[in-house]
Amino acid sequence: MNSPAIHPLDATDPLAGYRDRFIPTGPDVVAYFDGNSLGRPLRRAHEDLTTFVEGTWATRLIRGWTDDWMQWPHLLGDALGRAALGAATNQVIIGDSTSVLLYKLARAAVDRMAPRNEIVIDTDNFPTDRYILEGVAQERGLTVRWIASDPGSGVTADQVAQVVGPNTALVVLSHVAYRSAFIADMESITGMVHDAGALMLWDLSHSVGSVPVELDACGVDLAVGCTYKYVNGGPGAPAFAYVRAGLVDEIVQPIWGWIGRNDSFAMGQGYEPAAGIRRLLSGTPPIVSMIAVRTGIELIAEAGIERIREKSIALTSATIEAVDAWPAHLWLQVASPRDPSARGGHVTLRHPKARELNDQLWAAGVLTDYRAPDGIRIGLAPLSTSFGELDAGLAVLRELASK
Ligand SMILES: *Cc1c(COP(=O)(O)O)cnc(C)c1O
Repeated sequence: MNSPAIHPLDATDPLAGYRDRFIPTGPDVVAYFDGNSLGRPLRRAHEDLTTFVEGTWATRLIRGWTDDWMQWPHLLGDALGRAALGAATNQVIIGDSTSVLLYKLARAAVDRMAPRNEIVIDTDNFPTDRYILEGVAQERGLTVRWIASDPGSGVTADQVAQVVGPNTALVVLSHVAYRSAFIADMESITGMVHDAGALMLWDLSHSVGSVPVELDACGVDLAVGCTYKYVNGGPGAPAFAYVRAGLVDEIVQPIWGWIGRNDSFAMGQGYEPAAGIRRLLSGTPPIVSMIAVRTGIELIAEAGIERIREKSIALTSATIEAVDAWPAHLWLQVASPRDPSARGGHVTLRHPKARELNDQLWAAGVLTDYRAPDGIRIGLAPLSTSFGELDAGLAVLRELASK
């Protein structure tokens, strides 16, 4: 194979070397633009998994639980909080899927806020968020107040101000919109929700590991997010939940399992929630699934979230610049914020035949994401994506769109 010339932006990219930490994609992949949906595997994840199975699971056996496995939800949660969430210790835990943790937090929050009887969420939030909150509302006899968000941007502080009031129990929003990549104003929206006396829950699935988050500084009450996107934890890796230190002992989540009980191994009668963030747990922690999450968190800590963000902005800006320069007859339009400070880690393009184009891109080895009705998402994981790869993928897109 002849190696192509190094792209000038790769030559000066301080994070360029991190790309080699990942297991190479197969020869059928020209460009991987879905790192925001499923991050690529790290070589270290492979080693860490093997070491765990052979060296720890096989040899420590049941003793692993008392060695340290029972602490992993806390240890990894704290490490993620430190590396990417602006969260001090004892507020983040690794647990179930994002959907299940969202359910637990939302149920706990609305019960804490009774008799307030309204939940606020937006119409373009990620589907699982909308469905889970509808379910919680039905279960507890509450009303959902919908913010009609603009799919091309996202929820603004003004929109939140218009719906919150004395009946609001909980507001649930995504920090980075999964469709447009719009970044919501966490600090002012959280403040506004608090002024109304309600609790604020942020979904950080598209932020964590890509956009720095300051949960403690913004006074956020509750948050959840995925670890299989920019954290590279692997398909279905367990999610994280954050509960503000001053709030955690006032909330009770609805799945009363033994691991979240006070003094689990006393196996006593009756459920009493454990003190602190541990009460978010229900059953046995998914240790094997946490190994690649741990590897991914260590990588973010090493590279530094601020540097990751700088590269992310460079990648998304280069994408927008390229597409803007293409002729109008390609029918490709940028549908993500142009202001980099309001844009997360991906760029959504609109095209009248987005679904067909996306299929053609996949057939040509450019793995993008189709989002109904007319969006193609270019997801750019900063640590695994090079500018050369970006150019190669965009060249294929341009060619297919010209046909
Ligand atoms: C990816 C994503 C999820 C996924 O939830 P799962 O329970 O892991 O399927 C939830 N919310 C948002 C905003 C997401 O982007």
